[in-house]
Amino acid sequence: MSGALEELYSSLKGQFRGKLLRSQDSGYADARKIWNALVARRPGLIAQCSGVADVQAAVRAASAQGILTALRCGGHSLAGFSTCEGGLVIDLSRMRQVSVDPARRRARFSGGCLLSTVDSATQAAGLAFPAGVVSHTGAAGLALGGGTGWLSRMHGLSCDNVEGFTLVVADGSLVHASADENPDLFWALRGGGGNFGVVTEFEVKLYPITSVLLATAVYCVDDIPGILRSWRDFMPESPDNLRWVFSLTTAPQSEHLPAQVRGRPAASGSMLWVGGLEAGRRAVDQILSIGHPLGITKTELSFLELQTMADHEFPHGRRYYTKSGYFRTLTDASIHSMVEALAAIPSPANQIELAYLGGAVGRVSAAETAFGDRSAPFIVNLLANWENAEEDAANLSWVRNLFQVLRPGMAPGVHVNFMSGDEDDRVPETYRHRWERLLAVKSHYDPGNFFRLNQNIRARSAAPSGEHPRNECTPPAP
Ligand SMILES: Cc1cc2nc3c(=O)[nH]c(=O)nc-3n(C[C@H](O)[C@H](O)[C@H](O)COP(=O)(O)OP(=O)(O)OC[C@H]3O[C@@H](n4cnc5c(N)ncnc54)[C@H](O)[C@@H]3O)c2cc1C
Repeated sequence: MSGALEELYSSLKGQFRGKLLRSQDSGYADARKIWNALVARRPGLIAQCSGVADVQAAVRAASAQGILTALRCGGHSLAGFSTCEGGLVIDLSRMRQVSVDPARRRARFSGGCLLSTVDSATQAAGLAFPAGVVSHTGAAGLALGGGTGWLSRMHGLSCDNVEGFTLVVADGSLVHASADENPDLFWALRGGGGNFGVVTEFEVKLYPITSVLLATAVYCVDDIPGILRSWRDFMPESPDNLRWVFSLTTAPQSEHLPAQVRGRPAASGSMLWVGGLEAGRRAVDQILSIGHPLGITKTELSFLELQTMADHEFPHGRRYYTKSGYFRTLTDASIHSMVEALAAIPSPANQIELAYLGGAVGRVSAAETAFGDRSAPFIVNLLANWENAEEDAANLSWVRNLFQVLRPGMAPGVHVNFMSGDEDDRVPETYRHRWERLLAVKSHYDPGNFFRLNQNIRARSAAPSGEHPRNECTPPAP
């Protein structure tokens, strides 16, 4: 541990109520790991905070000594921002309280909650918070970046449903942001990521949902262009209750699929209906009459089953790399390029995820939150997911090459939640006409850019990036 870290440890240990882990301490080996094994770092100190006072103490001490600091909620930053080499990790995993007010359909949850923590507490009251699709993701990181998921079209992004934030800012003070209190900060926190401080509590809106209708189908490779063209034309007119998404990937070895499709490139479609079941069955039957769907399933699921059904596809400890973008519409040429890339997929778990937002997300005006573009409703995520370091180069290249091909057809911008650690140049593009306002908020609350392990909005007054080590999370160049 460096001298500065020793000093930090000594200054914290008398007052800290959570756990401080140095590399020699038991528990450190597990605590240092994050979800994405592509980013393996050894922080000098991990401060597992037990409450707001611990967070304040850690921020004050690290900021005073200029120690590189990462924030961690669920540890799912695809970019690997929730760890760092030799610095401090402020780990919020001991701060997982949720309180639900069923009558007001509101909840408060702490800054270390996972989606599963929030879902199990809110579902006990028959309510749901619109968030992501994998329950071991951190609710804080996801909501601060925007947050898309099964309920987005019905109820908006996660950040659209936050009514208040309590956070520890760079000088260690506790600040509240809502529509009435520090409204600029409130605006910035809804989409601006972890740039402004450590959020210790979120106050959010909930909706009554306990069960949903889900249909799934697989389309063989020859059927992909046709079904994607139909999807592209169908979605803009479809009701908010419907979310229809695709994953272009390798078909599973399932006995419900014809043998010639198993293990081959395919599109897996999921159609979710939230609302009355009769109307839902009609909508999914209409969709299933298009193209040549195989291995069809139609199930009424509990909301908790829905929220956990993809958990096993994205386990901790594999290697992941992603690039993402928006399309105003999906051209035939883009569809062709995706299908071509599928033929050269280096890992069977790699996916091209396609979603259509619109609905409630599209009805929030561009100026209302800091979140990136709402006008281009098609989202594509290129996600590589593999096991061994020897396969890094092939998987990184697969994502980067396909992204290069698709990029000219994309609208500017990207959802920060799906960015990698080597995309600094895309951050201003993400926020575009919101950039100057974000810079002003950042410069007010974090003038020294203490919170810089994120998709960074560098305060005007901060040291030039060359003098200010930040992004050791960059994955290897091709
Ligand atoms: C398996 C998987 C599934 C995903 N599914 C979705 C999805 O459906 N929808 C979607 O929108 N995104 C999704 N994402 C992306 C995800 O939202 C982002 O990676 C997000 O940053 C993860 O949050 P986290 O708290 O788990 O991550 P961490 O790695 O813990 O945190 C990421 C960053 O968020 C900030 N942060 C975290 N907690 C706080 C806090 N309390 N206060 C201030 N800043 C904080 C910090 O800048 C930190 O670097 C998914 C990611 C994975 C790995």
